[in-house]
Parts: sequence; C-alpha cells; structure tokens
Amino acid sequence: MLASLQNAKLSWNDAGMPISDSFEDIYFSNNNGLHETQYVFLKQNNLPERWLTHDRNFFVIAETGFGTGLNFLATWQAFRHYRETKPEGKVTRLHFISFEKFPLTKLDLKQALAVWPELSSLSEQLISAYPYAVPGCQRLCFDDGAVVLDLWLGDANELLPQIYEPADGLADVWFLDGFAPSKNPDMWTESLFSQVYRLSRPLTTLSTFTAAGFVRRGLANAGFVMSKVAGHGEKRSILIGRSQKTKAKINTLPVTSIAIVGGGIASACLTYLLTQRGFRVELFCADNDVAEGASGNPQGAIYPLLHHPDDLLSQFFVSAFHFCQQLLTGINNQTAFRHDWCGVLLKAIDDKSSQKNSDLLQANFPSELIQQDADGVLFPHGGWVVPAELVKALFQLSAQNGLLTQHKNCEIKSLNNNDLFWQLSDTEGNTWSASHVILANGVNILDFEQTTSLPITPMRGQISTLRASDYEAISTYVVCGDGYIVPALDGQQVIGATYIRNDMSREVRQSEHDENRVKMQRTLPQTAPQDVSDYTITSGRASIRGVTRDHFPLIGGFRSTEDLKRAGAEMPKSGWLPETASGLFILAGMGSRGLCSAPWSAEIMASLLLNEPLPCSLLTLRNIDPHRRELRRAWKINLGNRRD
Ligand code: FAD
Ligand code: SAM
Repeated sequence: MLASLQNAKLSWNDAGMPISDSFEDIYFSNNNGLHETQYVFLKQNNLPERWLTHDRNFFVIAETGFGTGLNFLATWQAFRHYRETKPEGKVTRLHFISFEKFPLTKLDLKQALAVWPELSSLSEQLISAYPYAVPGCQRLCFDDGAVVLDLWLGDANELLPQIYEPADGLADVWFLDGFAPSKNPDMWTESLFSQVYRLSRPLTTLSTFTAAGFVRRGLANAGFVMSKVAGHGEKRSILIGRSQKTKAKINTLPVTSIAIVGGGIASACLTYLLTQRGFRVELFCADNDVAEGASGNPQGAIYPLLHHPDDLLSQFFVSAFHFCQQLLTGINNQTAFRHDWCGVLLKAIDDKSSQKNSDLLQANFPSELIQQDADGVLFPHGGWVVPAELVKALFQLSAQNGLLTQHKNCEIKSLNNNDLFWQLSDTEGNTWSASHVILANGVNILDFEQTTSLPITPMRGQISTLRASDYEAISTYVVCGDGYIVPALDGQQVIGATYIRNDMSREVRQSEHDENRVKMQRTLPQTAPQDVSDYTITSGRASIRGVTRDHFPLIGGFRSTEDLKRAGAEMPKSGWLPETASGLFILAGMGSRGLCSAPWSAEIMASLLLNEPLPCSLLTLRNIDPHRRELRRAWKINLGNRRD
C-alpha cells in the first residue's frame, strides 16, 4: 500500500524557473534547461539514432523524477521529428515511463512549462491529459497512441519492485533524474540501482546529470559498465552506463493471429487498442449485432468506484476513469457517439449513504476528481454515454484500417488447444484457429469448459425509461442514490437498475419496473411523483452483468488445472507472476462499472498480450488475475497467511 500523495511545494526564481522547497534544488538548469536535457539524456543515449534500427518496433525510456515533464517533452519532440523525417525507421511507438513522488499541481505545471514556448504544442496536450494526484499508474496517450506516457505516482524506491518485467525486458534507456544525490539521498539507493538493472534489457543504456562517486559505484555493482563524460555548460562531468545483460530467454508464443470472442464494450475496446497498434483481429459475436448484451442499454453512467486513495481498487478505478476519459475524447474527434461529461452526483439518501459520502470527502482525493455538493458528492468530470453507439464507434474505427474481420451471429461453443494454436468452433461446426484467443464475452464466459469455474456471478439488471416531458427539471447530472437517473435523451429518461443474482433471463418484468420507480422516488423525493403509479414507463431492457466479489475485473492469461498446480508448487515468496504463455486470455467480470473500467482493462490486456510495459503494479496484476482465488489459496498454503 502506498501513502497518499503530496504535491510538490515550489518557489520560483528570478528567471521564472521552479525550485523545490522540500529539496532546495532546481528542477532544471537556469542555463538553458532544454539544451541540458537534450545533451544529458538524448545525446548520451544516442537518440534519435537508435530508433532507426532498434530490435523491436517500440522503444521504452524509463525515468526517475518526472518533475515538470521537460525530459519527456524534449524526447517527444525529438521522436516527432524522427517520425516525420525518417518514416522508414524501425521504432513506431515511444513508451516513456516516469516515476514521481511529488507531482506538480496542474497550475504549477502550466507555469513551469510556460518558459518553453517552443514546446507549447506538446505541453498543452500534457497539461490537458495530466493525471489525477492519486498513487499508482495513469497512462497518457498522444499522437494517436504513437507516444505513450506512464506516470507512476509514488516513491520510485517503493514502486520499482512492483514493476512487472515483460518477457522481452522493459527499459531500453534510463534517464536517472531526481535532484542531486546530496539533496535527495533517500532516492539514490542500492535498491534503486539494482531495480534499474533488473528492469533493463541487454543493450540498455543510462545517463544522469550527476557524477557522484557512490552513484557510479552503485550502478556498476548493480551490473552497468559506467563511465564519466563531459557535462553540459559549467558542469564538469556526468555519468553514462551500459547494461551487461545477455539476451533474455523469451518464453512466449509469437502473436501471429488474434481472435476475440465478444461484442460488448470489453471486446470493442480491446479490438480498437489492438488494431490501433497495427494488429489484425478476428471478432466472433454470438448476437445478430454487437452491443446486444449488457453493453446495449440506452444510456449508462461513467464514474469510478472509490473508497480511499491508498486502496488498490480505488487506484485501479482512478486510472480506469482517467483512461476512459482520454479514449472517449480521442475517438470523439474521429467519430460520433452521444455522451456528456455532465457530472455524476452521489446523492445522500439515508444515514448510511451520508456516512459513505463523508468518508469519501475526507479520504483526500483531489478536488478535480470529487467535490462536495449540497446534495452529496460530485464527480465533476463524470458523465453518461450511449454504450451501443460507443461500441459501434470503436468497431467502426477498428475496421477502417482493414485490420478487423467480424463474424456476427456466430456463437463460439468450444475451444481446443493444439500447442501452437487455439481452435474455436461455433454451433454450426465451423472452425477457426488463432495463436492467441481472448474471451471477452461478458457473463457467457462461464459457458466454456475451460472457464466455467471463474469467480464470476451472473447478476441480472433491468433499466426502465420514462417520458422525459413528465419530469422536466430532474437534474443536469447523473444522479446516483438508490439506483441511478440519467439526464434525458431523445425525450426519454433512463432510470435503474435492479440486481438479481444468478438470473440469466432477459425478459422485461413489470415487478422490476416498479422497483425502479421506488428507487427513483427514494433518490429524488422532491422531484418524483409521490405516488409510484403516476410514473409512465415507456420501455425497459434487461441484461446480465458478470460481477466479481472483490469488484476487480478478471484480466490475464488462462491457466489449466495442471498450470495452477505447478504455479502453486513453484510460487516464489514474493507471489505469482501473470500468465502469458498459454495463448488463451480472459477479459471479463466488468460488473456494474464496465463503461468506466473496460477501456483500462482492455489496455492492460493488450499490453500483457504484446509483452509491452504494463500500466499496473504486480499487486494489482495479482488482484485482477482470473485465477486469483486458487492462486491465493496456494500462496497461503505454501507461505503462511499472506495476502496482498
Ligand atoms: P457484454 O456487453 O454483455 O457483451 C458480451 C458479448 O459477448 C455480447 O456481444 C455477446 O453476443 C457476446 N458473446 C457471448 N457469448 C458468446 C459466444 N459464446 N460466442 C461469441 N460471442 C459471444 N456500467 C456502467 O459503467 N455504468 C452504468 O450505468 C451501468 N448500468 C448498467 C445497467 C444494467 C441494467 C446492467 C445489466 C449493466 C450496467 N452496467 C453499467 C454494466 C455494464 O453494462 C457492463 O459492465 C458491460 O456492458 C459489460 O461489457 P462486456 O463487453 O463485458 O459484456
Ligand atoms: N525530469 C524532471 C523534468 O524534466 O522536469 C526534473 C526532475 S527534478 C530535478 C527531480 C524530481 O524527482 C522531482 O520532481 C522530485 O519530486 C522527484 N523525486 C524526488 N525523489 C523521488 C523519489 N524518491 N521517487 C520519485 N520521484 C522523486
């Protein structure tokens, strides 16, 4: 668990440069900080030249101390220039990972970056996508996904051991920033040096503005060949290093073909994120069209599930909410789907919900995320979406580049593995094969022989729609109290929803309309009619959520009974690692917040599948592991009562 964050406390010198009050050190040199960054971090790591002939098409830079983001912006600027001038270059995607213990406030960031007008077109985008000040990782995507920034908020020494190393290694370059070692000895530790080495690849290089002897020796002991070179401006020398690792053994199947089973928001997001990375996807949807399952309601609310900034589930949802906002905003520039970031109000309707709201307000979440409102707690940037329009927009964008094949009305009945490929068979006896299969078919994931015992419970839900003209001024927000009420659309007001465990029926029931009317009356007693029979229900829709007890979705590789036994027996003390070798993956259990969590869950899934850096910690990976129940049990048996 990480302690909640504190923002950086800054002063400004006469040249308008930020100075840290806590560390009494400068963020960048007064003597043209941008040139210094270009010299120390880009030139010393031989960038952009290395992008031309790198061994994979994405390049990963990791940094300690994001600060004002100047290093990131300078790298992004260089990467843009390289892409424009060298379109034949091998690297098409830049992945920048940065760790920051004391993030600047957005206001300070704006002021700090204002001194670099030459970077303004990039810094404006960074400022507008800047993450919420909550511990964990938030992923920012720029230039249509060609530039990815993972901002890990927290202490680098606590976070680095939590970073998963993909099969092909993580960082190609390290920028070791983080104030002078004399001013910040807590960061420059032996443990940091060994983590930097652990997360390096065979040809990884590093550079740092410091020339401190203990940094040089520490990095050399960790495994880097270190040398001193001339510094920038008045600085005599700086350090550079090169990893001595030999080529890692890659133990995963190459991704040659991808099949996705589904047709809801989870599979739509995954399809979009994979085709955007240039991968071909074959989609299988049991219904006549996509978005006919849980993702087919006329409207749905988008807001995160929060308790406390230090709890992993809340951190997962903050990252998810931030990513969802970015994804929807990004695709909205290319295609139309109706949505509105009108705000979501958690209305206090009784003592219990009042207490929950006051706990939430005291939990130290940033005010951009939640605020106090006269009636409860407001998510000012929450909102609603028409889920089916969003799902269709995502599939339409995926199809535009010719990388998507869709099989509708095609129910996959069984999955068989023949070592190199998974074979999918439908109800008509047709078969297809793929090296990698992702099951993203909502609650029906329980229908497959392999996945029938996953910890998902079917939870039927019905929404009702009312004629909006009958209830003119209900609210400009989505209001959640007992159930929820969404602002009117097309003359219809959506209210909902019911929860019925283990009921797979999709019939619309009068009894559940009545239940929804009572919920609305409890939520908005002043606005709603006193007599529930005065409500005119115009229509309704029922579908089935796939819920999990711990509210985390299920994201990760499938493990057979034998794999689970082996994982239990061989599990290292620190816990299990995600499974990537089986070629079968699970993306399910989106529960009641799938519209918020599906984009992020799909991004984690895509990163895991493609051996890219993961935007979540090992602890979170264990919490979302589809087999966490069995693995926790095995972990406990082998190692005593440990829980993460
Ligand atoms: P689904 O949308 O159910 O999609 C499953 C897909 O898999 C379907 O297209 C189906 O055809 C396909 N499929 C199934 N089996 C097979 C097979 N064997 N072969 C091929 N294809 C198959 N979330 C929010 O965030 N906000 C809300 O306000 C909200 N309100 C809700 C209200 C109700 C009443 C309900 C039921 C849910 C609500 N949710 C809400 C939850 C949200 O709708 C779900 O979390 C989300 O839609 C799940 O998406 P999915 O893609 O996992 O599954
Ligand atoms: N690279 C930055 C830029 O481009 O603006 C400048 C970085 S500034 C010199 C050092 C940064 O390291 C500060 O933002 C500071 O908060 C951060 N930092 C210090 N100790 C840290 C730690 N233990 N973990 C993560 N970040 C830390």
